[in-house]
Amino acid sequence: MRRLLIAGNWKMCKTGREAVAFVEAVRRLLTAQQLEAVEVAICPSFVALTETAHALKGSGIALGAQDLYWEPEGAYTGEVSATMLMAAGCQYVIIGHSERRQSFHETDATVNRKVKAALAAGLTPIMCIGETLEERDRNQTFTVLERQLAQGLAGLSAPQVSQMVMAYEPVWAIGTGRNATSAQADEAHRMIRGWIKEHLGGDAAEHVRLQYGGSVKPENAGELLSLPDVDGALVGGASLDPSSFAAIIEAGRKAVSAHAGGRT
Ligand code: PEP
Repeated sequence: MRRLLIAGNWKMCKTGREAVAFVEAVRRLLTAQQLEAVEVAICPSFVALTETAHALKGSGIALGAQDLYWEPEGAYTGEVSATMLMAAGCQYVIIGHSERRQSFHETDATVNRKVKAALAAGLTPIMCIGETLEERDRNQTFTVLERQLAQGLAGLSAPQVSQMVMAYEPVWAIGTGRNATSAQADEAHRMIRGWIKEHLGGDAAEHVRLQYGGSVKPENAGELLSLPDVDGALVGGASLDPSSFAAIIEAGRKAVSAHAGGRT
């Protein structure tokens, strides 16, 4: 059975001190039942990781980073390695977010190198894929997803992919307030799991966790998280406020209890 993973991507928001205040507030809001039903992670900026890790101790909430560089060490000014993230207490790392693809020229090839470096160091990659509005309007959604999957996962084994998290994030839904409809998310998630089954086998398809991301908020989280192939959410804006993040986690808990035994 795949456990829901709800992760907050804080992007370039919150200093270390602000992150600690958030953690203190969210710890007061979350219940043991919620954390049992749903795995929760937060992904602050690099410079807030250590303080956030301290504040999270004993909370059951995991820590993630928003990027890494694939080399283990060396003359790469400004970059951060997988080993450094592990040492800071990270369990997850977001890779290939559309903002990095669009603003920092990341490609499927660099995403692939980063995924491999993360897995080799023992981090769980959250690999982001998704089409732009232009690509959707041209009916290229599946072609784009297939390319991102084939190139982003190139050279990985089925057991490696089984451990991963993939986030389907339609670019047009990120930070726009316009989420994918249930039908759109369902169709894309089925396609992604189907692709993984075809290329990496049934075991990898069953175990890989597929998050939906793009304007997830308390009002739409319940519906999206109830979809059979949606195993969680990657949440941007709504993860910055402890109450809205906690409300999304509660929606996840309800989705899990409503579908107990019904999810794979
Ligand atoms: C994201 O940053 O991954 C994201 C989905 O952002 P938002 O929830 O704000 O659309």
